[in-house]
Amino acid sequence: MPTQTAYFQGSFVPLAEAKIGIMTQAFLYGTACFEGIRGNWNEDDGTIYLFRLREHYQRLRMSGRILRIALPLSDDELCDLTVELVVRNGYSEDIYIRPIAYKSEEAITPRLHDISDDFLIFVTPFGNYLDSEQGIRCMTSTWRRVEDTAIPARAKVNGMYVNSALAKTEAQENGFDEAIMLDERGHVSEGSGENICIVRNGKLITPSPSDNILEGITLDTVVTLARDELGIETVHRSIDRSELYIASECFMTGTAAHVTAVVEVDRRPVGDGKTGEITQRLQRLFFDAIRGKNDKYSHWLTPVKPQSSGQPEDRQGVKAERVP
Ligand code: PMP
Repeated sequence: MPTQTAYFQGSFVPLAEAKIGIMTQAFLYGTACFEGIRGNWNEDDGTIYLFRLREHYQRLRMSGRILRIALPLSDDELCDLTVELVVRNGYSEDIYIRPIAYKSEEAITPRLHDISDDFLIFVTPFGNYLDSEQGIRCMTSTWRRVEDTAIPARAKVNGMYVNSALAKTEAQENGFDEAIMLDERGHVSEGSGENICIVRNGKLITPSPSDNILEGITLDTVVTLARDELGIETVHRSIDRSELYIASECFMTGTAAHVTAVVEVDRRPVGDGKTGEITQRLQRLFFDAIRGKNDKYSHWLTPVKPQSSGQPEDRQGVKAERVP
């Protein structure tokens, strides 16, 4: 079996050895923040393209400001470290990178001040998360999205994902693929791990940043592609639940979820119950951009090229280099 490598306590170690103690404050109280970053494998040129790496670290730094966790390295250093870790793992398939900044002290108090923190990264192979081919069926969750006055959703706080897990399990155990959460005012906020967007009158509409959402990097990507490639404007404003029922299209965006059509909400078809035309066009643009098939968007990508790309089984010891 190959050795998977993590970055842990300041050095590269086998993943199996990257362990934290059971009294670690982040484990006890969820006092940590994280990112999810995709590396998309392009079979044609044998390259993994890390997507919007710097923006993910900028968002992690912002989450850390809210949780009073300082990142130990600059954005450049974090990007270089991540590339090095991807190289060391030697995957030639789609991957998911998880950096976590966490309260590392062993302490029995749920506080943010006067407590040490640390930073780690691991990498794991990762395929499709939602069915972006067929589209998904969603339900409006009975769970409300955490409010900015409780746990700020714009920070990617580990403990906050209990809210997501409650909604996701409720949705799946009721036969749906994903949950759509409303905030306390009844406005649509987001999915358990995705932003949401509807199409009405040819425009994209997505909840405003004050509707208790994570300010998604995939959403920003789609908004840019819609504007620059399709001439479609995006309106950021509150969305009512009933608007989901009359939208002509609806889709979710996320690092794990990519761009996935929502074809049914609360047992009502969205539009004609199939992936809408604008969603399809955005999906094509998005998938080309993330796999390095559209040079116009190469600034979003950090290519990592294994020198001799092997199957996952022989990745140990595979040499790799960063493409400038
Ligand atoms: N909302 C939540 C709650 C999420 O967990 C995610 C996934 N990170 C998103 C939205 C989408 O954000 P991004 O496109 O940056 O992955």
